[in-house]
Amino acid sequence: MTYRVGILGATGAVGQQFIQLLADHPWFEIAALAASERSAGQPYREVANWIDGRPMPESVASITVQKAEPPLDCDFVFSGLSSSVAGEVERAFADAGVPVISNAKNYRMRDDVPLLIPEVNPDHAELIHEQTWEGGGFIVTNPNCSTVGLVCALHPLEEAFGIESVHVTTLQSLSGAGYPGVPSLDALGNVIPHIGGEEEKMATEPKKLLGHLADGAVRPADMEISAQCNRVPVKNGHVACVSARFQKDVTPDAVAEALRSYRSPLRADELPSAPEQLIHVSDAPDDPQPQRHLHRGGGMTVSVGRIRDCEVFDVKFATLVHNTIRGAAGGAVLNAEMLAQRGYLEARSAEQAVA
Ligand code: NAP
Repeated sequence: MTYRVGILGATGAVGQQFIQLLADHPWFEIAALAASERSAGQPYREVANWIDGRPMPESVASITVQKAEPPLDCDFVFSGLSSSVAGEVERAFADAGVPVISNAKNYRMRDDVPLLIPEVNPDHAELIHEQTWEGGGFIVTNPNCSTVGLVCALHPLEEAFGIESVHVTTLQSLSGAGYPGVPSLDALGNVIPHIGGEEEKMATEPKKLLGHLADGAVRPADMEISAQCNRVPVKNGHVACVSARFQKDVTPDAVAEALRSYRSPLRADELPSAPEQLIHVSDAPDDPQPQRHLHRGGGMTVSVGRIRDCEVFDVKFATLVHNTIRGAAGGAVLNAEMLAQRGYLEARSAEQAVA
């Protein structure tokens, strides 16, 4: 079965990652590209400021970019839209009956919208049934890019020991701010101890992701999270230094074992983008590093290392996540694969695609 997909925000940093991940996807075929009025009406190769190190796939280069508004000739859309427009545009697609698989923050915390990491809370997809858009579409979101790395590590620990409180300090790459992002004279040789809205997202999104679904609503996980977020001059990859306090007595060895033995409910051979390992645990003293360890599992595996006693909390460790793959486009593609597998997506134009 082939699904024909549209990409909203196709020209941006996340949009380009969508294009790389979907160019040879076994289930999804790129049928439409959309962006702002600035780009609409022109061939993709002319308007995308291609920042990915790999060549632009030939299959998209000559596609004419359209305005990000319905109708688009596709079965569902991925959204890598700027949050300044994502609210309005994604609503328009849902109202037009189109499923929207979004990276943007706008609907993440809405009660009837699933905030999903398929290996963590796949059951939350059922919230789709609570949505009542005019045309019968739906919106599904994936978390903030830093939240993903944190939550993939916390989930097995919450299951095994119960988490009371977390303190997390992030070192976030420049690509997390999109293109052109942070001016070079602010970024080079510098650390900026402020990323607008990021600390609030990291304090709230994990509670929804780790919460329990009952009677059509998510009851948030009961834990305290304090986040400090920093922009650092790294191209890709967000590191988080995490200290956690648990409900049980826990040693660093027990944390390492819980992370190593965690088995995702997804089987890698069932969903094309699921990595064999959700979490890679290292004992090396200098692992994880963006430069060396970012592409584990094709950018879909979260690395955890430096697991040790914490003098203030119980245990501390470091995580690394690829912000535009697992933290954005790859996470959204995996969400779509899971939704397709569970029958939430319809290949309405599949016959045309085959023809
Ligand atoms: P970006 O590089 O700035 O790209 C923004 C995209 O939105 C471009 O395709 C742009 O099209 C489009 N756009 C802007 N204004 C528009 C309008 N008025 N109408 C239609 N389209 C418009 O940003 P990004 O880093 O790719 O981020 C995209 C989204 O993903 C954001 O919501 C961001 O918060 C989220 N996100 C990003 C990351 C990351 O690591 N970068 C991770 C997780 C989530 P034009 O080129 O035509 O202007």
